[in-house]
Amino acid sequence: MTTDTIFAPATAPGRGGVQVVRLSGPLAGPALVRLSDRLPPPRQATLAALRDPAGGEVFDRALLLWFPAPASFTGEDVAELHLHGGRAVLAAATEALTALGLRVAEPGEFSRRAFEHGKLDLTEAEAIADLVAAETAAQRRQALRQMDGALGRLYEDWRHRLLRALAHLEAEIDFPEEDLPGGLTDSVRPVVRDLLAEIAAHLADGHRGERLRDGIAIAILGAPNAGKSSLLNAIARRDVAIVSAQAGTTRDVIEVALDLGGYPVTLADTAGLRETLDAVESEGIRRALDRAARADLTLLVFDATLPPDPATLALAGEDALVVLNKADLAGALPAELAGRPALGVSAATGQGLAALLATLTAAVEARYAPAAAPSLTRARHRAALEACGASLARALEAPLPELAAEDVRLAARALGRITGRVDVEDLLDVIFRDFCIGK
Ligand code: GDP
Ligand code: ZN
Repeated sequence: MTTDTIFAPATAPGRGGVQVVRLSGPLAGPALVRLSDRLPPPRQATLAALRDPAGGEVFDRALLLWFPAPASFTGEDVAELHLHGGRAVLAAATEALTALGLRVAEPGEFSRRAFEHGKLDLTEAEAIADLVAAETAAQRRQALRQMDGALGRLYEDWRHRLLRALAHLEAEIDFPEEDLPGGLTDSVRPVVRDLLAEIAAHLADGHRGERLRDGIAIAILGAPNAGKSSLLNAIARRDVAIVSAQAGTTRDVIEVALDLGGYPVTLADTAGLRETLDAVESEGIRRALDRAARADLTLLVFDATLPPDPATLALAGEDALVVLNKADLAGALPAELAGRPALGVSAATGQGLAALLATLTAAVEARYAPAAAPSLTRARHRAALEACGASLARALEAPLPELAAEDVRLAARALGRITGRVDVEDLLDVIFRDFCIGK
């Protein structure tokens, strides 16, 4: 078990009115006593002068909070020093705490201790990191829901169903009432089949949770000079892409991160699509097409003053939004192109941009609005669920009950690794490494 005591600022570095330093471990209480002469009453903000244990100089007047184990975030003795902001105060506190035998925490170490003391499962710990990183409302909601345990409960429920089925199967192996013909017995087969279907449905969610967490990718595609960069600029209301009257200047992909009605979206400008002999430019086009293939949605931009560009038309699929740019220069515009509804806009005058943003937001919402059931949010979850599903599929085909039992056991284990209810020591370094300090 952990015996050392850690501390770290829980607030972001830099100037601020207040900064919080968190302590966790057996020395948290003694450290408070040494700094402030007494242990404050549990869970009550207490104002105290903090003294440097070496020279006795007061280095700050701060609010102290004391959370004795086990009713604390980590499950250990925890203290918080609500210090005044700024570097010098933090330096003095760091020196004092180090002198008292505490050490600076690794990133994610508080959450890791909370997990190790059973305060959180891994999905809840991951959700804390997601909430801290959340930049849009949809991300915040998803992280909060996962932090409340919705995802962990789903996986634990599945795992318990499997463990019960396994117990049945093992009993039937040990005390067969009749000759067991195949692998799974009649009492267990429907459980495995149902769960396999539920997992398949959960996985086939169009990567909803992962996209919400990581951002939805929209690629802007079109012929050179159609106005892709101008449109990106107009949408982002920032000067990010190079706008030029000469064809083929956007050689690299330029990205803008947007909050579209609460959804995190990355809009990427790409090189113009056209035949070219220029090696640099054709590399840009290759990258543009690669972007299009990986994008969740594409924005196909046509120059409304010209006949529709065939290379762009060829990309009009289900996930494409068609935009007729330079509407300010064109006359009446068709309502659709390549069977897709077409929106007339002008990057130059801003005409139609609000409608375009509303359409984009609606398209994003239609695909990624949170489902009734919690969504998986990480490739780690997906990989474990796929492993679980593969084991269950094998169990259904197993020729002997003992082999089926082994597959069901493996499937339950794969689920347990998502929440951390089985041995996951090998995973922890990777999972908590990405946390910020003080979390
Ligand atoms: P890209 O190659 O598709 O990125 O096109 P650009 O954004 O670089 O635009 C090409 C040219 O068309 C530039 O001279 C722009 O100023 C012009 N342009 C872009 N959008 C519009 C528009 O809506 N109306 C007008 N009149 N000109 C535009
Ligand atoms: Zn461009």
